[in-house]
Amino acid sequence: MMIYDSFTREKRPFVPIRPGHVSIYVCGVTPYAESHLGHARPSVVWDVIKRYFIRRGYYVHHVQNFTDIDDKIVLRAQELGTTVGDLATRYMMEYTEVMNRLGVAPPDFAPRVTENIESINAFIEELITKGMAYATSLGDVYFRVNKAPHYGQLSGRQVDEQRVGVRVESSEDKEHPADFALWKAAEPLEPGFDSPWGHGRPGWHIECSVMASRYLGPEFDLHGGGIDLIFPHHENELAQSQSYYGVPPARCWVHNGLITRGNVKMSKSLGNGIGLNELLDRFPAMALRTYLLSVHYRNPLDFSEEALADWNRGMERIWELFDRVKNHPAPSERLHADWADRLENFEERLLGWLDDDFNTARALAEVFEMVRDVRAGEACGHVDTARGWARINLLKAHQILGILPEDKSSVPPQSESILLDSLLEWRQNARDRKDFAEADRIRQTLAQAGWTIEDTSQGPRVTTAKVPGKEKP
Ligand SMILES: [Zn+2]
Repeated sequence: MMIYDSFTREKRPFVPIRPGHVSIYVCGVTPYAESHLGHARPSVVWDVIKRYFIRRGYYVHHVQNFTDIDDKIVLRAQELGTTVGDLATRYMMEYTEVMNRLGVAPPDFAPRVTENIESINAFIEELITKGMAYATSLGDVYFRVNKAPHYGQLSGRQVDEQRVGVRVESSEDKEHPADFALWKAAEPLEPGFDSPWGHGRPGWHIECSVMASRYLGPEFDLHGGGIDLIFPHHENELAQSQSYYGVPPARCWVHNGLITRGNVKMSKSLGNGIGLNELLDRFPAMALRTYLLSVHYRNPLDFSEEALADWNRGMERIWELFDRVKNHPAPSERLHADWADRLENFEERLLGWLDDDFNTARALAEVFEMVRDVRAGEACGHVDTARGWARINLLKAHQILGILPEDKSSVPPQSESILLDSLLEWRQNARDRKDFAEADRIRQTLAQAGWTIEDTSQGPRVTTAKVPGKEKP
């Protein structure tokens, strides 16, 4: 398994800190307006990365924060005449719901800045004690960039260059222009919190240092976010965490490329953003999801509705195939033909592409090639075998990438279906070696779970029976 690390700027073998576990921190959204397309890409990419690790047998610990207090939220709440808390909660719910539409599983923890103020203050105090930060007479606290020996290594910038492109801080009593805010003083009536330095709000970067270490420990495996977060956000987070703990927080920094439109960055401030809910009302969620995965996550994705519509037509062929095969029994014979061998090894190849820096673009191409192999099998008369594999492989691809629409409700949940396939295979093996007692035991186990098996000339046919009421033993 190889992953590209933005810090070393190379693909490196993935070695987890704790064997069998992978800990992930991804920078979350600032909930002050409707979710847009730019939010969907990292969410979908990390959803697949998580599914991939789970399929490879890892326990995944995923933390993704909400920046539920900052200048943008304060301003928007004022405009709308609502409170900061109500506004943030409304858009956190909106974000969670739209991600659900995209088939994105929620993180294990979604901490909010406003629930971590005490930890943030303690972290800042410790940085001041260590001489890495200082409070000013105006009630701000700054990080002392020149005291961090490795500062600039992640972004490849020199301290002197760093004023360029950085928002000018409100306070003028910084020791060095590159120093950045850990705590910003606020007017008494403005939303904020009490702190040893007076009423104010935490800086953006410190929240991620605090929440990542609070939920995952000082060191974790993967840190994610958009490539636009490398500087200043991740550079500053790295400096804070390393100064506090003595070790860099993440073993590997994974950055996704941005979505552009006509090769211009898509953003709310440029007015070329697209609302996610609006887009999902016009296109199937799984079309958008897979379209976002059709380009390698590190490359920019230049969005156009025509390209999405084209992609949707391709996906419709896959969904039509799934509709035809979704009740097809597992293949009952083993054939020696190129197409049949490829159908049998499909999942291995799919995972193989993801082993190589999560190459979802090639993994999706593999799904389309699999469909061609199904057609090849059908064309030479082995319809049952080809369709049996089509069903199994589409469900496997769905489990790892998320490709099938939600409304395929007549189909058992994916994990259940794969479990069912293995049990049927196990039973068939028992029957082949004439161990009918074992075969019968598996049939009974399946019956208890509500599945009835009928042996037909075309192999076992499985139907769902109503599960008897559980209140009776
Ligand atoms: Zn962050």
